[in-house]
Amino acid sequence: MHTAARVGLFQESVIREMTRLCNEHGGINLAQGFPDSDPPRALLDAAKRALDGGKNQYAITWGAPSFRRALADKIASHNGVTYEPDRHLTVTCGATEAMMATMLAIIDPGDEVVVFEPFYENYGPDAVMSGATLRFVPLDLRRPEIPFDREALRAAFGPRTRAIIVNTPHNPSGKVFTRDELGFIAELCERHDALAITDEVYEHILYDGARHVSLASLPGMAERTVVINSMSKTFSVTGWRVGWAAVRDAEIVTAIRRAHDFLTVGAAAPLQEAGVVAMAFPKSYYDEMAASYAVKRDRMLGILRGVGLQVVTPRGSYYIMTEFAGFGFDDDVSFARHLVTDIGVATVPGSSFFQNGGAGRRYVRFAFPKREETLRAAEERLSRLQPRG
Ligand code: GLN
Repeated sequence: MHTAARVGLFQESVIREMTRLCNEHGGINLAQGFPDSDPPRALLDAAKRALDGGKNQYAITWGAPSFRRALADKIASHNGVTYEPDRHLTVTCGATEAMMATMLAIIDPGDEVVVFEPFYENYGPDAVMSGATLRFVPLDLRRPEIPFDREALRAAFGPRTRAIIVNTPHNPSGKVFTRDELGFIAELCERHDALAITDEVYEHILYDGARHVSLASLPGMAERTVVINSMSKTFSVTGWRVGWAAVRDAEIVTAIRRAHDFLTVGAAAPLQEAGVVAMAFPKSYYDEMAASYAVKRDRMLGILRGVGLQVVTPRGSYYIMTEFAGFGFDDDVSFARHLVTDIGVATVPGSSFFQNGGAGRRYVRFAFPKREETLRAAEERLSRLQPRG
């Protein structure tokens, strides 16, 4: 049997594999990041209305006009960046497709893409399939809030640099990049005539007064930043697969739309209609969501500390990187396996967020966008966790 070399260069998603293992063992899934409660009722009603109201055929390939209009308004008011719906926005099947379409649209084989490490695992296969070579810049995982090493970032940029991926708020560390840090990234992009691709899917999930800044809102950056985002996390609809890419450069937009068209034709038409309703939610919706995740974060931090694990406190997103020193496990995979098979709680091994495992071997990631009863059940199970040997 012959299969292509490119798919031999990466493996099944560790995150999805953990979800599968979890289901097999009847575990509580704190691996894959998704909420276990329903999205807002108004959103579900809007989706049903769209289904009943005949929105069941293809939307325009790059997105339903009503949705792109609503999206542009929402982005302008929340991020201070203006996009023309017809010229700058492409609706995709989730941020996942937006990232892949963007990489396919801008990368030639051998081009380099700078990425902070740890990183969300998708960027690895995105790079392989688009032909990009990734250049890694480490973040301090124990203290993600301290500014990244500017010299290391400067050194990662070179003549072959085509782009940098900036994920803020950051998965898995919970780092929220400051305006100052983003300003430095913008300078490097300009100096090297490189693009930025930002993954901002956790932009509304912030703690302790952290503020999200879209790199595109910095002077001159809307034209060289492809902002990627989705409805998944902000509106608790990870299964809808509605995302988008935004950039104020017609040539890049055309390229992204071309890749997107032949990857998927378009995102689900009725769910884009429902998205129009979501984009008009008042500010209080976002404030309440952030407040409710803050409670869950603190609850989960308490649970993890309570069983003797060492936690990294996130300032954004909904994950907690956790060290398990003292439990008698050599590496993250065996600890994660023990957690899912013997304790009944699924996590993600930290090494999957690193190129070669690296420092990630000391960590597992817990996702906490869960109802209190789920967190309580996880607490009960985790209370059986004992050092081994
Ligand atoms: N982004 C989420 C996570 O990191 C979900 C990943 C996925 O399976 N698409 O867990």
